[in-house]
Amino acid sequence: MGETTERIRSSGGQAFAISTDGPKLTALCDGYLDLDLSRFPAVVRGVGDGLAAADGQDLDDLCVSVNCFLIEAPGRLCLIDAGDGSRRGASLGHLRRALKAAGYEAGDVTDLLMTHLHGDHAAGLVEAGRPIFPNADLHVSAEEHRFWNTPEEHDPVQATQTPLALAALDAYRERTCLFEPGGEILPGVRTTALPGHTPGQVGYRIGNEKPVLVSADVLHMPALQVARPEWGFLFDVDGALALRTRLALLEEIAATGMRIAGAHIPFPGTIRVGRRDGGLVFETAVD
Ligand SMILES: [Zn+2]
Repeated sequence: MGETTERIRSSGGQAFAISTDGPKLTALCDGYLDLDLSRFPAVVRGVGDGLAAADGQDLDDLCVSVNCFLIEAPGRLCLIDAGDGSRRGASLGHLRRALKAAGYEAGDVTDLLMTHLHGDHAAGLVEAGRPIFPNADLHVSAEEHRFWNTPEEHDPVQATQTPLALAALDAYRERTCLFEPGGEILPGVRTTALPGHTPGQVGYRIGNEKPVLVSADVLHMPALQVARPEWGFLFDVDGALALRTRLALLEEIAATGMRIAGAHIPFPGTIRVGRRDGGLVFETAVD
């Protein structure tokens, strides 16, 4: 097993502090998701095998981390996404253990900041129809909320996620806060629209001069998609828009040196991107 694959499969339940010049940020690992290569329909074998191998991964044994991120601000404890819950067995559902490793219980969380409502981000909000985070408000972009409440817009791939998204919205319906991306959701945390993967997907920019952008599912696998951004993910609602969002974000972070964190970037889930020989390359950024 490659070095990165091994790290992805052994990080469930871990917490890792990420430096920012704003609120304290910690990556929490819910576990990992095994993936079939068909999830990346455009991958060209050979080229893809080389890119995966260079990062210690194998296209015949694919898996991705499922990460959440904790923000500690004065009087607030905010969780970005809630992982997949325990519905798939032991590979996932370790968020509460990771939260404990960071010093907290589920009841301490005051705000749930959702990037989008696919199951691997939202199924971990609910257990047997009840909120796992009983004292938290659920923050969802208005467009994401509209999309999941409009099932006639869902193709068969998205329809697999609809019951999970609606169960989460239902469990928190008294405490759901809708927002338009582009503003400050709490001091030192700004929201930014990242449409395509889902219509209402958002990222959270944490910090000021040296921010980290929690970039949701713009990248599912940096080893493939930094070099080949056109290799989209099967679950992208609008693949062309997802590609434009991915290209714009990669341009921005290559130009500014800003770190990005992501739900599926190998734990601890943070990279920076640079240019080499006319192409984009990435490195893990654990500082
Ligand atoms: Zn995801």
